[in-house]
Amino acid sequence: MSNMTSNMTSNMNSPTPKYPTKDELLAATNLEDLTLLNDWEREAWMSIHTRAQLSYVLSAKQIALWWKLYAKLQGKEDKPQAATSDNFYPNTVAFLSRANVHIQRPQLTIGNVRIRRNSPSYSRFPNDYTVSNPSTSTYYCAIRGDNGQLILSRGMNATMRDEVLSILNRIEADPLKAILSEAADNCIFCNRELDNPASRAAHYGPTCAAHYGLPWGEKGSNKEDWSNEEELI
Ligand SMILES: [Zn+2]
Repeated sequence: MSNMTSNMTSNMNSPTPKYPTKDELLAATNLEDLTLLNDWEREAWMSIHTRAQLSYVLSAKQIALWWKLYAKLQGKEDKPQAATSDNFYPNTVAFLSRANVHIQRPQLTIGNVRIRRNSPSYSRFPNDYTVSNPSTSTYYCAIRGDNGQLILSRGMNATMRDEVLSILNRIEADPLKAILSEAADNCIFCNRELDNPASRAAHYGPTCAAHYGLPWGEKGSNKEDWSNEEELI
């Protein structure tokens, strides 16, 4: 406790707003729902939080950002409640979870829909998957890791829901077919640029092919061959 405490104390003397103390900020991860933050905000939160736990001195900018993110997390009661649904995506969960022996957070992006396993270290629901927009990080819905049930967000309008469900349904029916259904300049799993013909044909590279147990190369470049790989689906 050092600079940080004195900074906060001086700020707390001003009439408004009431800033949280360092202890409150540190405790906030325990009541976290960090899925309310976008990727960049989560990274920032965790980085600043870790520095504070290690009693490193934080810059005024870091403290300001910490407060801002804390306020966003505290606002979660006002967020629309989630609702369970009758939609289940067990094949999608099974398809993605095969990569879990290689990577912590399997993910797949098709069109405007990204499905990503929640963080094992900072999500309250580490076994679930978050469905969001890969460009804007807009949260769409969640898929439960244990039974594939879709948890809808009430914040999602009907048009958005139809678009998202249409892509999720295609993935559920046939992941490999869904992967080929949209143009992809980058790997649909890890987002790296696809720099050779076999990867461009498959929409993913050799490393991700190995992680997710998928064909790649001669076989992977031929869609007909894939449909015979029944054990993959
Ligand atoms: Zn990849």
